[in-house]
Amino acid sequence: MNRRSFLKSANAAGLAIALPSSTFAAAEKKSASAAAPNPKTLLLKDYRPQSIYKVPVTEIKKAKFPIIDMHSHPYPKNEAEITTWLKNMDECNIEKTMVLTMTTGKEFDDIYAKYSKYPERFEVWCGLDLTGHNKPGFGPAAVKELERCRQKGARGIGEIHDKGQGLRSGKSSAPGMHPDDPRVDTIWEKAAELRMPVSLHVADPIWMYQRMDKHNDGLMNAYEWRLDNQPNIVKLAGMVDILERTAARHRNTTFVACHFANLDYDLNHLAEVFERNPNIYADIAARYAETAPIPRFAAEFYSKNAHRLVYGTDMGFDQQMYQVTFRILESQDEHFYEPEQFSYHWPLYGLGLGDEILQQVYQNTAAKLLAARDA
Ligand SMILES: [Zn+2]
Repeated sequence: MNRRSFLKSANAAGLAIALPSSTFAAAEKKSASAAAPNPKTLLLKDYRPQSIYKVPVTEIKKAKFPIIDMHSHPYPKNEAEITTWLKNMDECNIEKTMVLTMTTGKEFDDIYAKYSKYPERFEVWCGLDLTGHNKPGFGPAAVKELERCRQKGARGIGEIHDKGQGLRSGKSSAPGMHPDDPRVDTIWEKAAELRMPVSLHVADPIWMYQRMDKHNDGLMNAYEWRLDNQPNIVKLAGMVDILERTAARHRNTTFVACHFANLDYDLNHLAEVFERNPNIYADIAARYAETAPIPRFAAEFYSKNAHRLVYGTDMGFDQQMYQVTFRILESQDEHFYEPEQFSYHWPLYGLGLGDEILQQVYQNTAAKLLAARDA
């Protein structure tokens, strides 16, 4: 059940108050708390503050400049939904979308067939086949499959995950084998040779590693994806070091670190990563609500690092989703909530990025990266 329908059913239960009877006793008890919330019993997950401020509200239906979305996935379940996606892209000013399939083999071929009909609008990226990663001789088969996918039409690799347990590409996983492992060397080198950028997701947001207690700033989201209870994983800082070592070992390979490399809470650290590694870029996908609470600091970071930042979404394909990202990047709106989109109780603030920076992040940085690939 999504949150919207949860709220609807909570209201429906509220009607039962007018018809008290033993049958409705349980519902009544439940609805009483819904109708008259008590701060002593209200749960954090149910907290839905609404801004009290009379301040400007900017509605941005269409991005100010054309966009290349470097981080999306094959969400549509059928042809009609792909058509809807294309219409939404048109109306929101999304020129092109990278469809990160995370797949190889027939699964990749099937997805490729659906999106390759629109070569101007979608690029399809493949995953890696990590089968046999712990057997001697791992490598040649994975490289062969990568070459086959490239031949078929894959333009990049992704999204490849390592949340501390080892590499994963969709259903294919390699526990304990991290991206800087010598066993992966031939794959990253082949990626450079085939001119395939790699969309690499390392670690996860900081709250997932912290104690799940009253001090956890992202508790409402962190708990579901918690990593604090997994003692044998490489933690966030360790994974960022692995990302840097990987990039250093393979300077001819281009890595696009997903979600600000999960350094959205410490953007100065990411700036240092960029400085040390000319072949690392980062997408800003699915970290809008994590950077919007610090609009001045985040905007400053964008202005200094826009040449390494690319737009991404990773949150489906409806228009409202795109529009929330525009509002956060473009507007100077203050103290607004987007719980439906992000599930946080905290207010967001527009970064008010200037035209030059917006154009870089929306399009130019990605265009340059892709042009270097295609040169
Ligand atoms: Zn993703």
